Amino acid sequence: MDKRLRDYISRSKNAVFFGGAGVSTESGIPDFRSVDGLYSQQYDYPPEEILSHTFFCRHTEEFFRFYRNKMLFPDALPNAAHRALAALEQAGRLSAVITQNIDGLHQRAGSRRVYELHGSVLRNHCMKCGRFYPLGHIISSAGIPRCECGGTVKPDVVLYEEPLDGDTIERSVEALAAADLLIIGGTSLNVYPAAGLIHYFRGGNIVVINKSPTPADAGASLVITGPIGEVMDIEGESL
Ligand code: ZN
Repeated sequence: MDKRLRDYISRSKNAVFFGGAGVSTESGIPDFRSVDGLYSQQYDYPPEEILSHTFFCRHTEEFFRFYRNKMLFPDALPNAAHRALAALEQAGRLSAVITQNIDGLHQRAGSRRVYELHGSVLRNHCMKCGRFYPLGHIISSAGIPRCECGGTVKPDVVLYEEPLDGDTIERSVEALAAADLLIIGGTSLNVYPAAGLIHYFRGGNIVVINKSPTPADAGASLVITGPIGEVMDIEGESL
């Protein structure tokens, strides 16, 4: 782990991590906002439009074509950053992970207190009867995934135009307000309202780890530019 980051963590009694897409790119999950040429060839709409509530309602089948092809990575594994955060929580040094990611990799690495601001692809519910379906149901079905009752099965993923879950926001705000160290990692902080939550942090130190500049850099005690897995890697180190 970066020595400067380690120093801040060792001086902290209650750290919180706030992360985004950059945490998962090292697990092979690309940020869908980084539109490449492939999108424009395969889809008639930009990803932000396809992943909107309106598009889901009007073009449900096209939504799922994009969703299955571009949003699901069932074989992705946690990387060094996920593992470090799980270990920090277990050691009593980190009280929560607040994430904009929807892949469930923090939990898979062993993190327990994870607040998923944008939901999770691992949870899916029938829009008609509310029955739960695992990710496998979405992957193995074709076209629009259906419930036994005939209803459409919708991923518990917050689409554009949809509000964030109130309970998740409340818990995130509580964790941020109680923390003395905020580690912001793998996010450019340009997706709202999620990014606005960091303003609830009242503690002394902010550490930013990202490959590109963020709006939080100016108020940060430490800015580390680099791949987050490498920066946070604690393999073979004691906490
Ligand atoms: Zn149903």
